[in-house]
Amino acid sequence: WQTLSDRINSVSPSATLAVDGKAKALKAAGVDVIGFGAGEPNFPTPDYIVDVAAAACRDPKNHRYTPTAGLPELREAIAAKTLRDSGYEVAPSQVVVTNGGKQAVFETFQVLINDGDEVIIPAPFWTSYTEVVKLAGGKPVEVFSGSDQNFTPTVDQLEAARTERTKAIVLNSPSNPTGAVWPEETVRAIGEWAVANHLWVISDEIYEHLNYDGTKTTYVGAVVPEVRDQLIVLNGVAKTYAMTGWRVGWSIAPEPVAKAIAKLSGHMTSNVANVSQRAALAAVAGPLDEVHVMREAFDKRRRAIVAALNAIPGVDCPTPTGAFYAFPNVEALLGKPLGPNGSVAATSSDLAALLLDEAHIAAVPGEAFGAPGYLRFSYALADDQLAEGMKRFQDWVAA
Ligand code: PLP
Repeated sequence: WQTLSDRINSVSPSATLAVDGKAKALKAAGVDVIGFGAGEPNFPTPDYIVDVAAAACRDPKNHRYTPTAGLPELREAIAAKTLRDSGYEVAPSQVVVTNGGKQAVFETFQVLINDGDEVIIPAPFWTSYTEVVKLAGGKPVEVFSGSDQNFTPTVDQLEAARTERTKAIVLNSPSNPTGAVWPEETVRAIGEWAVANHLWVISDEIYEHLNYDGTKTTYVGAVVPEVRDQLIVLNGVAKTYAMTGWRVGWSIAPEPVAKAIAKLSGHMTSNVANVSQRAALAAVAGPLDEVHVMREAFDKRRRAIVAALNAIPGVDCPTPTGAFYAFPNVEALLGKPLGPNGSVAATSSDLAALLLDEAHIAAVPGEAFGAPGYLRFSYALADDQLAEGMKRFQDWVAA
């Protein structure tokens, strides 16, 4: 009688948080670990945002619950920001503010999925999608596209995975973990395919402002207007404004879906911390100047990490053009003696463990993203850490 539920037993822990947790524990024990694990900008949250939050702490009105779906002025600002960035109109009533984009992802599947419904998830994928689909009783259906196709699926691949139980498809461009930015024609074709086949489109746009080499984020709701009645957009302030710990995200959905999401939040969390919402309002309603400065810094690190990874024999790293992840293929390193101890990694998961234990660098194995044979390196860490971490990887392989 003391067993845990089948539901929770069917789910894997968050691999990204597990790697980060292990790295932090090693650091606490005095080991000098360099963490490429967490998708977390090393910058402080911009001052103009922190100042608003600090003042908000002193205002007693912020010591109370907010409406479950979020502060009305924040919902309005998110609608205005969507028009500014994505180029199409949404009503504030379609917006639900959540505890990070993660809660928005979780709740979306909870309100849309019935037992046995299938959700097509292009792989490599962000590690939580498959698990939250399972938590909702659904079946994740992975469709893999590797570095040979720039981690971008074709409609033919998706169509081959579609059955009469397919209920939804997940889009995430720019992508975690690959850093791929899907071309406009791909996003448009997938949107049109989803409309033709009556599928919900769940578009995770949390890395929308992190593009390099002249690429730009294509918003499916902008290029396929007919999809908007079956579109749920997921987003948040974490990655854009260096606000991971403030925990503010949102979903934008057709009104009945938004209402259902808010109903669920009413039982889960009541609302997002009032002060965090005030900070998010300052972020979302403010300019993008600081974002552009951070993007420049990420871009420099991107070039540095891609060059350093490709300089390691056996590592093949395509150049990512979005987000802040490099996703090299490391298959050529598997099955042979590596490092000063001649350790052998049979899988990318073993390799990540060896890199942590022997080279003291933390990266997330591709297994966590439906892509064995790859490793994910977040380059959102400081320049000197990045350089030192890459040197350790190079030296370890060379040894
Ligand atoms: N979606 C993607 C693709 C992510 O990479 C993340 C964070 O790593 C999230 C959503 C959730 O972000 P948060 O809950 O911090 O807003």
